[in-house]
Amino acid sequence: MKEDIIVLVSGGMDSATLLWLAKNNFRNVYAISFKYGQKHSIELDFARRLVERAGIKKHFIIEIPHLKELKGSALTDEDIDVPAEEYPKNEPPITTVPMRNLTFLSIAASFCDIYEIENIGIGIHSVDSPYPDCRGEFASSVEAAINASSIMVAKKKNRIKVYTPFLGMTKTDVLKLGLELNVPYELTYSCYRGSLPPCGTCATCIQREEAFKSLGIEDPLKKQINH
Ligand SMILES: [Zn+2]
Repeated sequence: MKEDIIVLVSGGMDSATLLWLAKNNFRNVYAISFKYGQKHSIELDFARRLVERAGIKKHFIIEIPHLKELKGSALTDEDIDVPAEEYPKNEPPITTVPMRNLTFLSIAASFCDIYEIENIGIGIHSVDSPYPDCRGEFASSVEAAINASSIMVAKKKNRIKVYTPFLGMTKTDVLKLGLELNVPYELTYSCYRGSLPPCGTCATCIQREEAFKSLGIEDPLKKQINH
């Protein structure tokens, strides 16, 4: 019998693709999104519409107040501009939010325990690797910690898996897969500045544009805004 999954949905392309992939591969799909003080909280409107379109019944939207209190990340600190550049090669970008994915996954794991969900889906891929909490080593370590602290695992002697099917893939690979799955990319949003239309110059806007360009397709969100 197929298992259940809870998917972390930001409203961006990668998590949208993961949501559609999960619909094909799992029995019950749950979605979870986080309001953590991100400047681009507009992404949550996209996340809501995406989850609705996917026909997912349960969408948990969780508020995490403390990340906004931390200064130092361009995603949450009003005094730091989101840079108009690609990621630095060998260090975490200024847009890293400390322990963000660890926080997200541990909250999702709480839902696993109560709803008896065996998988947590997170759409991290190789282009995200400058972020320490987007690497394979991170995902497997969190998985170990979740299993060691889970009530469900202790009772049922099963496992919780951190499902990361995109780890070895580029953003273009993810997009290619999503087009096969008919992901409605016009309902996804990537800009870290939170503007509409998207700024076009932040690292995620650049990555998004490159992915569509490399497949010779116009970004459907852009197309929709322009019409
Ligand atoms: Zn942008």
